[in-house]
Amino acid sequence: MPQHEKVAALWPVVTERFGGKPQANEPLANHTTSRLGGPADIWLPVTTVDDLVEAVTMARQHHVSLFMLGGGANILITDAGIRGLVIENRTKTVHIEPPQSGSNNRIVTADSGVVLPNLTRRCAREGLSGFEWAVGVPGTIGGAVVNNAGAYGSDMAATLVRAELLSPEGDRVWQPVDWFAYDYRTSVLKRQAGSEWIVLRAELRLTVASPDEVEARMNGFNERRKSSQPPGATMGSMFKNPPGDYAGRLIEAAGLKGYRVGQAQISTVHANFFQNLGGATATDMIALIQTAQQTVAEKFNVALELEIEVVGE
Ligand SMILES: Cc1cc2nc3c(=O)[nH]c(=O)nc-3n(C[C@H](O)[C@H](O)[C@H](O)COP(=O)(O)OP(=O)(O)OC[C@H]3O[C@@H](n4cnc5c(N)ncnc54)[C@H](O)[C@@H]3O)c2cc1C
Repeated sequence: MPQHEKVAALWPVVTERFGGKPQANEPLANHTTSRLGGPADIWLPVTTVDDLVEAVTMARQHHVSLFMLGGGANILITDAGIRGLVIENRTKTVHIEPPQSGSNNRIVTADSGVVLPNLTRRCAREGLSGFEWAVGVPGTIGGAVVNNAGAYGSDMAATLVRAELLSPEGDRVWQPVDWFAYDYRTSVLKRQAGSEWIVLRAELRLTVASPDEVEARMNGFNERRKSSQPPGATMGSMFKNPPGDYAGRLIEAAGLKGYRVGQAQISTVHANFFQNLGGATATDMIALIQTAQQTVAEKFNVALELEIEVVGE
């Protein structure tokens, strides 16, 4: 059966179960930080882990391709959009272990849809340190577990104890941090084809500290970010830093700071940030990416590797 017929067969099943929540042909530009991305055949926001598991299971039973969307902060969705079911993860439960006598650590368990800056602030209020680095990182815990998100010398690899996953076979399993084979902004999950393993929840180990100290560290990180990164519609860092150098420095030295294709621009503030000035297309953005890669390769013989992921048809 062709994919569009499988999607058509899935539609009445998801609307029966999830009521008015699923949308057909939803523009994904409404759900990414770059404000780019064509339509999803079916877009479904979920707010609980059980609903998330059920939605994934429905797609699998109908052999409909599935894409897990977190905050859309690290992906560039093509103008043709994503075929099949796109599940937007809005799960939001957080559990913070009560203080344990004799222990300086506490375990925080968060649904994969919890937004990083929100969780960081909640931990700060509890006087828990170790997650301050995430205060300015948009996106969800799920996306951060997949990408090994990090900043200011720390990352998920240093914070995660274990995560609960839905396996490709449909089992719910907890996997320890080592299982994720973390490296710079990547993991075993980032290297998977499609959304085969789904992150459901994550356990972080944080250290007891004074709320004022934690707050001060967070504010410091926010200030550093504000002074070095552009506001507006971006995907964060476009390229990974090549060993011993910085992607932004190379792009700037290649003379491309401020370079534009249509309404997509290499930021005038930081050349590793590519901005949608308003009305850009994903095609413009892809052309800008290719220009940066070609020019840096020609001038400096360095192959810039994408940090973001290009997805869609
Ligand atoms: C202004 C700005 C600043 C940024 N700064 C940083 C930074 O300092 N450090 C950093 O590391 N990143 C940074 N980023 C990038 C981004 O915030 C992170 O990569 C973040 O972890 C992406 O999470 P997300 O929920 O948006 O994932 P998405 O972009 O929605 O998805 C990313 C990938 O993860 C998969 N995925 C998402 N959720 C799940 C799930 N529950 N189960 C299975 N797969 C899933 C998706 O299918 C996709 O393949 C920045 C981005 C912006 C826009």
